[in-house]
Amino acid sequence: MALASTGELYAHALAVEREAAERYVEFAQYLEDQGNYAVAALFRMLARLEAQHLDRLERRSAGLELPKLESPYGWLSEGAPETAARELVFRLMTQRDALAIALAAEKRAQAFFERAARTTKDAAVRALAKDMASEEADHVALIERMLERTPAAEVDWAAAFGEA
Ligand code: ZN
Repeated sequence: MALASTGELYAHALAVEREAAERYVEFAQYLEDQGNYAVAALFRMLARLEAQHLDRLERRSAGLELPKLESPYGWLSEGAPETAARELVFRLMTQRDALAIALAAEKRAQAFFERAARTTKDAAVRALAKDMASEEADHVALIERMLERTPAAEVDWAAAFGEA
């Protein structure tokens, strides 16, 4: 599906950033409740980053006609929209899980904007989509660095003691 207007592109970008900002705040809150303050702080930082991005997009797209999107973006809700399932995900989530969910979402966003840049016939949409893709690529790189520095939550004791 090629995007035909900057309004359409903004509508997608706003949905992506809004979802990201909300999820990062949620992750930060969860990790704080668990006492994982270091990773919580990283999610607060990501949330601020996405909120600033969202703010900029809202200012730039003010006055544009934004189409309503058919399918809203959801990071955790795919196939399981119930609160119970969501709470289970949160209960079982480690720092690395949270980062992995964020990484997958940022990669999806990057791929979306790259595809938009590739497929559109509109030069303005293409330029803007390229900007957005490179911003998402920065987020991907940042989260990859965070993942590298976050130790695995589970220690394989059997392997550690040579029983594997
Ligand atoms: Zn992002």
